[in-house]
Amino acid sequence: MAAGRGGPGRDFGFPCPPVPPVPSPLNHTSHALPFNAVASALLGWFSESARPMPWRETTDPYRIWLSEIMLQQTQVATVAPYYRRFLEAFPDVERLALAPEDLLMKQWEGLGYYARARNLQKCAAIVVREHGGRFPADPECLEALPGIGRSTAGAIASIAFGKDAAILDGNVKRVVARLGAITGDPSRSAVKERMWEVSRQITVPGRGREIALAMMDLGALVCTPRRPDCRVCPLSGWCRAFLAGTPEAFPEKVERKSRPVREAVAAVIEDGDGRVLIRKRPAGGLLGGLWEFPGGFLEPGESQESALVRWGREAGLSSLTPSEMFATIRHAFTHFGLRLHGWRCRVDGDIPESAGIWVTRNDLSNHAFPRAHQILVKKIKEVRP
Ligand code: SF4
Repeated sequence: MAAGRGGPGRDFGFPCPPVPPVPSPLNHTSHALPFNAVASALLGWFSESARPMPWRETTDPYRIWLSEIMLQQTQVATVAPYYRRFLEAFPDVERLALAPEDLLMKQWEGLGYYARARNLQKCAAIVVREHGGRFPADPECLEALPGIGRSTAGAIASIAFGKDAAILDGNVKRVVARLGAITGDPSRSAVKERMWEVSRQITVPGRGREIALAMMDLGALVCTPRRPDCRVCPLSGWCRAFLAGTPEAFPEKVERKSRPVREAVAAVIEDGDGRVLIRKRPAGGLLGGLWEFPGGFLEPGESQESALVRWGREAGLSSLTPSEMFATIRHAFTHFGLRLHGWRCRVDGDIPESAGIWVTRNDLSNHAFPRAHQILVKKIKEVRP
């Protein structure tokens, strides 16, 4: 990586002599930051250090939008193959708008946060219906579309349309919080507004696209959450957190409550032809539209076997008998941890159609499952019928 170029503080040598932290709020300090010089140093660094990415080879708003949605809460390396496959399946916004739900979910399978996939299609439908298939260039119009928040709107407007729109994704929040030594809980709107203010000020006229990309890259490559590489950072001469000797103290870390762990069971029921029963989760809820092995959460004090029998009774399978627990899968959701126990179950007698559909083991791969159930699919396939 190229060494950064300097601002006023580059002459200090390293380690930098500690200076007292600058008090926040930023409205007290931001005026002192020479944003034009900061932006110029940032752009100089970016011209030598930009990361190549498949979605940076285009300014097609459809592709930029798709990449920005996929990159929400997901690493670049994970997104790249999904992005390519998704574009092969849905090369334009019209085909995405008309895509069958199962195909859409299958393409998204494994990326997580499935509400993004559903919003993607809702957004595509609105762009086709109300905007003639063309994404609006204005950040406010973009923000009115499903699944597009303020920062994503800024990213699309700047990267695809060259607007001077600021962004504030996770990487950029860290950079601006450190640059301005912005204190306070970063989830509070007043603190966020101070961060937006710094991001806006750095977005110098006419360079919106490069500034947005440069800020993203600086946050990902140099101003990392732990051990930021301030020695090569082009902003170190002005960075208040660095000059105070405490870059990692920004943004403030707020203690999160530990996540509760919820137990659930999944019944693997096979018929005499070796087919497996699966059902589709209701649209709109958690993991809506994905397929799963039937079952559900345990109630307080309930055993796994009792939960399976209860589910069987509710689904019209009163003869369901749990026979063997063959796997326990752990998975973290945003608000809780899941421990999912996969059980082989036997059912005597008829199974009502409302319980689900029967698919062969091979055909399981043609259905989109949530992550924990994907692991169950793998384990089922490992065992010879
Ligand atoms: Fe650059 Fe370090 Fe400041 Fe981050 S904390 S912006 S890496 S000087």
